[in-house]
Amino acid sequence: MASSHLVSHDPRFRLLAQGNVALTQIATGMLWTEGPVYMPQGDYYLWSDIPNDKVYQWAEGLGARVFDHDPRNSNGHTLDREGRLISCEHRGRQVTRREHDGSTKVLVDSFEGMRLNSPNDVVVKSDGSIWFSDPSYGILTDYEGKRSEQEQTGCYVFRLDPETGDIRIVADDFVKPNGLAFSPDESLLYVSDTGMSHDPDGPRHIQVFDVGEAGALSNGRVFADMQVGMSDGFRLDIDGNVWTSCGSGVQVFSPGGDMLGEILVPEVVSNLCFGGPKRNQLLITATTSVYFTYVGATGCY
Ligand code: MG
Repeated sequence: MASSHLVSHDPRFRLLAQGNVALTQIATGMLWTEGPVYMPQGDYYLWSDIPNDKVYQWAEGLGARVFDHDPRNSNGHTLDREGRLISCEHRGRQVTRREHDGSTKVLVDSFEGMRLNSPNDVVVKSDGSIWFSDPSYGILTDYEGKRSEQEQTGCYVFRLDPETGDIRIVADDFVKPNGLAFSPDESLLYVSDTGMSHDPDGPRHIQVFDVGEAGALSNGRVFADMQVGMSDGFRLDIDGNVWTSCGSGVQVFSPGGDMLGEILVPEVVSNLCFGGPKRNQLLITATTSVYFTYVGATGCY
């Protein structure tokens, strides 16, 4: 590999990485960046600076600016099938949708009469259902949200039908469920557990589940045990490779769970997303900064 930030562990990585491009720091001076999403309508990206309670917008050649001054300590973002922005709010303890007219609609803020913990990351399935993780990071201290009592009996992964409001637990055996993403054909759901953040013996792995017809998950098993740091957030490419955050940067796993290679990043990475007209750009949120590069792979929507 020509670039010093790329480390190959498997020949398959050579076509996934792009060996002749730099890893560029495009923004810095923040506290904790996370929740990146690509907005294809305008060819720009958004991300959260959770402790500073801001969402930033960045477009190649134009730079960064504040997009939302009061996102209620938002974290993860994604788009629904109409291109509307879905946000996980720590302080708001809710999942919201930005409507086409710019207004914000609360999609869900409770389950069985109890407030959610602090929704963290979110993905939308092709049938429109919204799947999100609900660990307690946003209510443990005031830093990333607001210190509050936990009302839920655990930290769950939920599936929400935004049309009917039906919400149900799809996974309940996580300490701190965090990033989540479907395989390209949506037959698999990957969910990371970052329980090690508050317990040295806690989990730091990615689990994978079979997705049933009615959205039920089964056959949960460990897909990857992280060796350096944790998998806070991840995305898949169209060939089913998993691009995940970790302590040293980004690690890429094959669909079979082989670690193919790494993109070394100078700061601890929280999350990443693909973007650009060809879906071959990678935006990486990493502690105080955001980094940008091109890859050989094509990301999933
Ligand atoms: Mg996260």
